Amino acid sequence: MKKPKRCDHTSVGILVKKRNQRLLIERRGSNFGIAAPAGHQDGQSPAAAARKELKEEVGLAARKLVARLKIKLNNPCRRTNNQFHVWTVFEAARWQGRVKRSKDETKRYFWASPRAVKSLADKLERFARAQRIPLAQKNLRKLQMTANRSRVWKKNPGLEPPMYFLFKELGII
Ligand SMILES: [Zn+2]
Repeated sequence: MKKPKRCDHTSVGILVKKRNQRLLIERRGSNFGIAAPAGHQDGQSPAAAARKELKEEVGLAARKLVARLKIKLNNPCRRTNNQFHVWTVFEAARWQGRVKRSKDETKRYFWASPRAVKSLADKLERFARAQRIPLAQKNLRKLQMTANRSRVWKKNPGLEPPMYFLFKELGII
């Protein structure tokens, strides 16, 4: 086993659209959920990290990235020292290639219609209600940890909790 890396508290997310559909992945490990490609900056600029993650997770080359959102969320990650992340979310305004997902990091990928994205958000809302955790940013950590322990969620997850709040901020849901 490799020693877990230390969290650098910086994350990037990349929004990729084809017509009106968004590229989403189901993560293989924690955190469990459906998400846009994302990862840590690890000392790189946000744009460089976004380019690298997009390539690694789904095999696409970003040709033009437009920063859409910067926000601090208290979502956990699988690294140590993981109290919060400052997120930079990019829209890949131009991209190239065919999706080729990372088999290590993702279970599957799919292009989601606005309706499909909404239904994944609804699934998280139902999960939060069932767990009696109000769906608010301040509960993000608790919500994600609870989801990570839920066999039902892992088998059939909805939108990953941090993505839910990013998508809300961006007006996607
Ligand atoms: Zn982290």
